[in-house]
Amino acid sequence: MDQEKQRRLRVLPAVHEVISRLKYEAEFAPFLTNERLLSRLTQSVRQVLQKARENMSENSSGSLDELEFSLWPWLKSQLLKDLTHSETSLRRVINATGVVLHTNCGRALLAPEVSRFVADQAERYSNLELDIENGERGSRYVHVEKLLCHLTGAEAAMVVNNNAAAVLLMMNTFAQGKEVVVSRGELVEVGGSFRIPEVLKAGGARLVEVGATNKTWLRDYEAAIGPETALLLKVHTSNYRVEGFTHSVSGAELVELGENRGLPVMEDLGSGSFYDGTSLGFPLEPTIQQTVKAGISLVSFSGDKLLGGPQAGIIVGKKVYIERLRANQLTRALRIDKLTLAALEGTLRLYESGGIEDIPVWRMLSYPLETLKVAASEIVTALSANPALSVELKEDVSQVGGGAWPTVDLPTWVCAIRPKQGSVVELESFLRLGPVAILARIHKDWVVIDVRTLLNGDSEEIVRRLEEWDG
Ligand SMILES: *Cc1c(COP(=O)(O)O)cnc(C)c1O
Repeated sequence: MDQEKQRRLRVLPAVHEVISRLKYEAEFAPFLTNERLLSRLTQSVRQVLQKARENMSENSSGSLDELEFSLWPWLKSQLLKDLTHSETSLRRVINATGVVLHTNCGRALLAPEVSRFVADQAERYSNLELDIENGERGSRYVHVEKLLCHLTGAEAAMVVNNNAAAVLLMMNTFAQGKEVVVSRGELVEVGGSFRIPEVLKAGGARLVEVGATNKTWLRDYEAAIGPETALLLKVHTSNYRVEGFTHSVSGAELVELGENRGLPVMEDLGSGSFYDGTSLGFPLEPTIQQTVKAGISLVSFSGDKLLGGPQAGIIVGKKVYIERLRANQLTRALRIDKLTLAALEGTLRLYESGGIEDIPVWRMLSYPLETLKVAASEIVTALSANPALSVELKEDVSQVGGGAWPTVDLPTWVCAIRPKQGSVVELESFLRLGPVAILARIHKDWVVIDVRTLLNGDSEEIVRRLEEWDG
């Protein structure tokens, strides 16, 4: 270490020196009243001093005198910030990106009545694994199985922690040490490094690739089937599309082939949806119900993508296969938590009793353009009083997110903002680092507020924050 740096570091006081000095500072009195608080204060002092040390090794501008002069006020402000910091790590974020299933912001939102049901289950004992009728041990899966069968038309259902776990469990149960035939066009990686070939490997199965990236035919599957084949797997390509000269084999065709050769066909539907979104402008894709109806032995999908529920992996299909999944020891390691189960039951009940507008994800996806325009122009009007900003109402596009329908652009209206001084990058971080984090998009030199994903009261908070921007 060079001498200059040594000299600078020596300016830093020791922990006990800081504490003694704080005894004369009124605002620290509350933190010196008992042992527990004192120990917390000591811990904070250590952390802040460590931070100071790191800052010094990165930045050595200014004289030693300047450093000594500014050090104490800096230490005090850092300590106060740390000690009065009652914020939780998980915090609310205003999602102004227009990405409905925003992976970084927790994907699907639950409906208010669903979250109330979850809170109720969290604070009280329940019949999670109790058969109330006879007072004996029950299964946690019964709480959603009937609902899932009813909604999908399947014979049986099972739920695990997430869809990745669902695929892992299916492969481990039916294909350990055996071969699984998959089209080369479906060997996808979905966010968070979930790769189909890796998941198969983790489940102990051997991957047999067939076809080409853009084209796979039934005869490719036929030719790949051998004595080691355990099952045929179909995977939704979720977050990407092969366009142009393409061909893939439908679930129904695979089922017919599977039946002829005595092999089950399983499908990872990825997002999976109960609704056919064509009326909202989404491409035609088989719904979960249609996939089950095609005769697929086991179909898996996520709980927190287009289903609009909690993170979960849902598997529906033939009873004989579901029973084997349940008997696998891995099920225990992948099992769904009771709060998730409550959120899932609540969400599935909404599908049974309600309409598209009761599921927040679908409500956001189906807002009429005119509603969005009105909401965006209200923000524009409120902001036009701020002389430090240029504000415009613009047409733009929102995204579904979560790897669902990646090529679909949902028309929307946005409030586009540009600072008269300073950059859009600065404005974006000003929004993100405010009292409530506001996540906006930067698009072509504008900070864009997409109203599609805003909730009640969000607009007002955005306007309030932007009133504080003075360039
Ligand atoms: C999203 C997705 C998964 C992973 O689902 P999680 O619920 O996030 O674990 C698996 N397969 C496909 C095709 C997906 O789109």
